[in-house]
Amino acid sequence: MTATTDLTLDVAAIRRDFPILEREVHGKPLVYLDNAATSQTPRQVLETLDHYYRHYNANIHRGLHTLADEATAAYEATRETVRRFLGAGQAREIVFTRGTTEAINLVVHSWGRHNLGPGDEVLISRLEHHSNIVPWQLLAKERGFTIRVIPVDERGALDMAAYRDLVGERTRLVAVNHVSNAFGTINPVAEMARIAHEQGALILVDGAQAAPHEPVDVVAIDADFYAFSGHKVYGPTGAGALYGKAHLLEAMPPWQGGGEMIRTVSFEEGSTFADVPHKFEAGTPSVADVIALGRALEWVDEIGIALIRDWEHGLLAHAHRELGRIDGLHILGTAPQKAGVVSFVVDGAHAQDIALLIDQLGVAIRTGNHCAQPLLHHFGVEATCRASFAAYNTPEEIDIFVAALTRVIGMVR
Ligand code: PMP
Repeated sequence: MTATTDLTLDVAAIRRDFPILEREVHGKPLVYLDNAATSQTPRQVLETLDHYYRHYNANIHRGLHTLADEATAAYEATRETVRRFLGAGQAREIVFTRGTTEAINLVVHSWGRHNLGPGDEVLISRLEHHSNIVPWQLLAKERGFTIRVIPVDERGALDMAAYRDLVGERTRLVAVNHVSNAFGTINPVAEMARIAHEQGALILVDGAQAAPHEPVDVVAIDADFYAFSGHKVYGPTGAGALYGKAHLLEAMPPWQGGGEMIRTVSFEEGSTFADVPHKFEAGTPSVADVIALGRALEWVDEIGIALIRDWEHGLLAHAHRELGRIDGLHILGTAPQKAGVVSFVVDGAHAQDIALLIDQLGVAIRTGNHCAQPLLHHFGVEATCRASFAAYNTPEEIDIFVAALTRVIGMVR
């Protein structure tokens, strides 16, 4: 039972949903603070996966037998769950993908390849994850359009004045994350969408780090495309989704060919394609993972994403306060609007050494460039340590983390 009627989250009950939180690492209780990379999975989601494989594992959309019918119904029911989770108008605006990376690549290769050419501009921000940079670079080489970069200020917030200047009549699409995985900055995506639309440009929002932490409403944002990954929002790996406005998806050509996505195939006359969204779902999808993703989103709903956001904001404030007491520790990313991610460097201590040693004390944090090299280089660093929070983390865990960090810094300095 995880639902709370309270105004604060029942974290003890939530923790009981996560069997992995009971394990030890190097003889110490696990303190898992790498949620921006992947979140842990509640038993309800594990049970959904188990139930699927035990009772109705079958390929979808093609069978005329009971198991195939049941699997298809559960898969399509998840489309409706995702629609609700994102606030989309229609279930057919939801395309299942392996995750955010694949969702962005779908837009790049389907919409991008057919709409971009010399003289066109795509705006991306310096805060982007490589998955919202590299696919555009690959296509720019092929199609000859220009990528322009929205700068950030010293706090890691987007420079909105510069953004307004950059958006112009050549801009065809703005691709920006809702929440930065490296710094936790929450970007004003609704305002950015309005500015893009005024100039006739589309906006693609990478919601990988927003979906787990912030209420999302793609209609209120007026996003043209919105991508997220299930494994960062308490679901399994292998399933995520792309939201796209129906009229855009309808006008876009398929990007991968195969079974499931066709209406007719003929050697003489070529092929015709299925309706949206099936046109974009070639081959057998991760059926079990998609169904379990639906259960994960229901789990989030049972708790309430607004409660999760508020809880994580409390954890973030606590972490900022406690880390701020450590001599020589510098937090990167201090934008006024932040989700539960804190990135930092420590004078005289390599990020990698810190992460390896702190793991010995049972604390899992991430170190490296967080797939955001242009951002880190801009701030003059190759790597940071990053702690990122989820609904099951507690202030006590942050205290354990800060105490462990203090010990480790003493060892390496
Ligand atoms: N965008 C952002 C902001 C991310 O944090 C991540 C994952 N770190 C991705 C995209 C890529 O997600 P995935 O690997 O699940 O496709």
